Amino acid sequence: MLVHICCSVDSHYFLQKLQADYPDEKLTGFFYDPNIHPYSEYYLRLLDVRRSCKMLGIDLIEGEYDVENWLEAIRGLEHEPEKGARCSVCFDRRFEITAKKASELGESVFTSTLLTSPKKSLRQLQHAGDTLAEKFGIEFIAPDYRKASGTQEQNILAKEDALYRQDYCGCLFGLTMQREQQQKLADELFVPLSGQIQPESIEERVEMYEERWQLEEQDIPYRIVKQRFLNWRLKTGLLRVRKQVVAAHFLPYSTLKGEYSRGKIEYTTGDLHHMNRDEVKFITLETYNRLVESCYNTVIELIFSPPPFEKELQIRTQLGMSPYDLSAILVVEEIPSNKIEILCQSEVYSDVREILIRTS
Ligand code: SF4
Repeated sequence: MLVHICCSVDSHYFLQKLQADYPDEKLTGFFYDPNIHPYSEYYLRLLDVRRSCKMLGIDLIEGEYDVENWLEAIRGLEHEPEKGARCSVCFDRRFEITAKKASELGESVFTSTLLTSPKKSLRQLQHAGDTLAEKFGIEFIAPDYRKASGTQEQNILAKEDALYRQDYCGCLFGLTMQREQQQKLADELFVPLSGQIQPESIEERVEMYEERWQLEEQDIPYRIVKQRFLNWRLKTGLLRVRKQVVAAHFLPYSTLKGEYSRGKIEYTTGDLHHMNRDEVKFITLETYNRLVESCYNTVIELIFSPPPFEKELQIRTQLGMSPYDLSAILVVEEIPSNKIEILCQSEVYSDVREILIRTS
């Protein structure tokens, strides 16, 4: 039996139920989910599915991440709500490729872990599966493992086995709508040009779950715990001096009361050069290099290859400022002498992230 897999939380429970209900059937997992955006999230879900399949002794095949074809298939349906027409096309496409794969592999039955998701309509999934089963001359099974206390059992299992629990269905459009409804920043979509790993970003989660994999391989005990913290994202940072754009690196937690400020340097304390408006401060690249123990030759070099976020976090206290200070601090090669304009579009917000701790 070929089992289409969407994520570990759904598959871990579903596969165990299938193993119990079809003891003579050899199950093969098929991770085909080009709907998942961005790619880092796709990779993270795949990583956890690999772990789950390994725990259950199930072979896993990775399908193609053919996101362009998926986007083409749902064209015109981008603004549909969840469980609407876009989702039908999305299921159809994933089911079709799974049915095709099953037929290529000589399997006679296929199914999908999407059937366990409480966010999906069973009727919609059953219809999609049955239509394709007919087309490929194979059988589609749709066991209802949600009924009775199925969903509850699934959640308990996910917690016990510390599975990665995503908080959006998968695609860019569903994610954007969900975050709009929650009035929450879609920070999953922020990837700085520098590649610096941001707190509670998908990239940070990938690092953590890869480390978890290593710990399990070495039999080292660990726990994944939640941490509430103040997060920050820079959307735009721009410095103009006498109307000319000048390279500037904005330190983490730089904010402005509005998004725009202008002024001139008024006074200096130690390494800090203070602008006369909005508590904006400047430091030189030389100071930055000394504090971070780096050797950047230019600010552009720093912008495109900064040190880890945590290292930059220490700079405010190293400069004698409060760690709660949210003023904009810009790193420049030369302290501007006149007519400074700054655009700083950033957000500071309460957030929760998972962290890995080693236990004994
Ligand atoms: S919301 Fe989920 S099911 Fe619907 S189109 Fe997006 S990824 Fe597919």
